[in-house]
Order: sequence, then structure tokens, then C-alpha cells
Amino acid sequence: MEEEPVAPPEMITHPSHQQHKLRLVTTTCDMPFRCDGCMEPGDGPRYRCDGCNFDMHTFCAKLPATLHHPMYAGRTFTFYAKPPAPSGRRNCDACGDPVRGFVYHCSGANLNLHPCCASLQGPITLDGHDFDVRAPRKCSLCKKEKGPDRELWCYHTNINGEGVYLHVACVKHLAGKRWQAGREKKHGGQIMLASEELMMKEGPLKSISSEQDRIVVGGVVRIIISVIFGDPTANKGDNAKVALSLQGLADLFSIQS
Ligand SMILES: [Zn+2]
Ligand SMILES: [Zn+2]
Ligand SMILES: [Zn+2]
Ligand SMILES: [Zn+2]
Repeated sequence: MEEEPVAPPEMITHPSHQQHKLRLVTTTCDMPFRCDGCMEPGDGPRYRCDGCNFDMHTFCAKLPATLHHPMYAGRTFTFYAKPPAPSGRRNCDACGDPVRGFVYHCSGANLNLHPCCASLQGPITLDGHDFDVRAPRKCSLCKKEKGPDRELWCYHTNINGEGVYLHVACVKHLAGKRWQAGREKKHGGQIMLASEELMMKEGPLKSISSEQDRIVVGGVVRIIISVIFGDPTANKGDNAKVALSLQGLADLFSIQS
């Protein structure tokens, strides 16, 4: 039995768009959007002001003021609506992309997380396979030792004694190409095709000989995409156990534990 998630409110007012109410849009066939809160790509449900063409991830609409993240034990992250001074230029420590809007910042360790990336709580278990997060190794997608820049997040599991590594940055980049195509063609629901590309026989995961194993890896890629793009539909039907602690995501995603 799947528990019904608590429905988010139909209309909200948000401090970053006080002049108008924002309306919940749940259609997934809409064109993908860019969140006017975190400035990151989004797909699926959102809060929207039609008159101003203003969109916001549903999770960005109700972020906690501070955050503790399981990947950074003992650290406290504080929410900022804009990247804090002095540098102004900051990159997310999970995906490596620049931070241009809403951010969780830890001043003690100079760490920054997009709210969407902070929503990834670390390890994922799918169909009995445990994927932990490690310092980057040679990634199965980009074949590079490290992420684009610094010590970025990399999901890891062992399949038949062979390590599989997935940079969050590379997963985001693959889905981002689909997101961009959806924007140009003005239709939605395409970002998940990125995971299907990966699972194809001649795709980047072709060293995994078993199709069943490729499906598990593709399933974890779908979970990562669904969390960071804010589209819970991707998780439907998956027997996935994902730790999500951000209030709002817990409401949004009907994930069985
Ligand atoms: Zn957002
Ligand atoms: Zn407006
Ligand atoms: Zn990020
Ligand atoms: Zn990579």
C-alpha cells in the first residue's frame, strides 16, 4: 500500500514574490521551467504566477531556515536567498554548478548547496543495491577521475565486484540536456529520457553486462534526477528507499521506506 502524500497547498504567498499569490501547477506535460528561487532547472510540479511568468520548485517554496545534512555531520547550513558576500561567486559542493539564487551555506567549512542538491540525502538503496556517496573516482558517465572542479558528490555501488561511479554533476548534465530540449520544443516530461539513454546496450554503462543491473543503475539515476529537478513522478513504481529530510520533499515524494 502506497501512502498518499500530504497535498501541498493550492495557493501560497512567498516572500520573494509578495505582489501576487502563487498557484500550484501539477501538470507534468508543461514545458520545463527555471526556478525563480534557486535559479536551477525544474520539471513537473511548481508554484507559478502566470502574469509574471514566475516559477518556483515546490520544495523551494518552503525551505527551512537552517539545515543539517547527513553528508556533512556537525555542520550547520543557513539559508540565503542570494549567495552570501564576500565573493558572490560560489559553486555547489554536490553538483559543482554555480549558485545564483537560493542557497544553503555553511560559513564554518565554506560549503554551498543548491536546495535541490541538499534534497539528496546521500545513500540510496534500490532493489537491494546500496549506493553510497564517496569522493569521486573514475565516473562511469564522463570517464574522468574527478568531477568538473572539486570534490563533488559521486554515487557508488559494486556490481559483480566492479565499481560503478556516477557523478551527480554528470547525471545533472545529462538530464539538463533533455531539459533544454524540452524548453526549446516547449514540451515537458522529457528529462527522464536521460536515464533511458544510459541503460541502452551501447550506452555509457555498457560495461555492465546484465540488463537487470543496468536497470538498477538507471533507476538510481532516475531518483537523482527526480530529486534535483523536483519531479516526483519519476519515482512512481520504484521500490526505492531514499532518505529525504527536507520538509516538503517528504510531503511531495511518496516514497516507501
Ligand atoms: Zn528552486
Ligand atoms: Zn506575479
Ligand atoms: Zn547543486
Ligand atoms: Zn562524471
